[in-house]
Amino acid sequence: MAFRPPRALDVKMTNAMDKRVELTGLSQLELISYVETLGEPAYRGRQLFAALQHRRLRDFEAISDLPKALRTRLTEVAQAATLKIESQYTSGDGTRRYLMKTHDGLPVETVFIPEERRDTICFSSQSGCPLQCTFCLTAQLGLLRSLTAGEIVEQIQIALNDAYGAGVKPPRGTNLVAMGAGEPLLNLDSLLKALRVMADPQGLHIVPNRVTVSTAGVVPRILDLAKTTDRPHLAISLAAPTDELRNELMPINKRWPLDELLAACKVFEKTLKPGERLTFEYVMLDRVNDSDEQARQLANLLNRHNIKAKVNLIPHNPADPLPYQPSSEATVERFKNILESKGIHTYVRRPRGRDIFAACGQLAARQGTLSNLSQTTPIGAIS
Ligand code: SF4
Repeated sequence: MAFRPPRALDVKMTNAMDKRVELTGLSQLELISYVETLGEPAYRGRQLFAALQHRRLRDFEAISDLPKALRTRLTEVAQAATLKIESQYTSGDGTRRYLMKTHDGLPVETVFIPEERRDTICFSSQSGCPLQCTFCLTAQLGLLRSLTAGEIVEQIQIALNDAYGAGVKPPRGTNLVAMGAGEPLLNLDSLLKALRVMADPQGLHIVPNRVTVSTAGVVPRILDLAKTTDRPHLAISLAAPTDELRNELMPINKRWPLDELLAACKVFEKTLKPGERLTFEYVMLDRVNDSDEQARQLANLLNRHNIKAKVNLIPHNPADPLPYQPSSEATVERFKNILESKGIHTYVRRPRGRDIFAACGQLAARQGTLSNLSQTTPIGAIS
């Protein structure tokens, strides 16, 4: 991955902006307290929250129901938007991929996936990722930094504004998945803060029940999440049925091996609501983890821990320079049949946005590779 580290100039210029308070990650109550520190009444905080979160306005000047003097003051001391779109690509299947930059010049990737009955937005929790999953391009960036709650919320606002326009209610429901760059459970506080802000009925009103967080298996945080009442759904990326292979594909397994991970999943399972299921994701890598024997090992692993989960089989999305190929359709089907014959509910995920490198494991694909595709929006045009 040809990632360009931030230039000293970028950082210097943006540090000056950092002194302004980022408002997108504040709850309604926090925003009320904030405007009160500016000498404004509480109802101005509620107005501001509705403008930023419900109408998704990203510029104080656009909030015409606030007095001009307050808009000017806010522009001096606060920020309604910090992420900038660097580039945007639209797939033949309608999937949109955004490459954004933080105020300090770090990459953030977000994917909007339109579906018949709802839209799904796949957001990032970190810039880069500290984990070293060998089938994932983002791993090659390493961790640049964790994103703030505001930067998480902004990704959703930007995607919805691009699809429907600022201030326009999305015609379908919105599901969120924390499956972009980063390990969400290594940024749990900011993630939960962002989800609480987005759940507010006077804001985006995307409730935790519409959100799925995918983890590589950070066991202590899975246990923390199990104790959280307003928590999202959980998905665990397995990728291998044995410690030996998982140590190779997902080195986090050396820290928290499969038995420990599944014991934590069992604790989490006890907190599931009626109809809710734990999901295990299994990326299918040709002749690496897709044999009949490995399907039986996976079924035995889940059954041994007595976990009533569903398994999502994810055909690997090839992306240079990763050394893996996707399993054939016939192999995926056979793997699925073996799991189902052992009582495991199994689904195959249809890849979306492969042509724009928006599919799972492809984020952080070289931008140069994309230059011939339909780049529909110039840099910063909708941020
Ligand atoms: S698969 Fe997820 S956890 Fe693993 S390196 Fe990639 S972004 Fe990080």
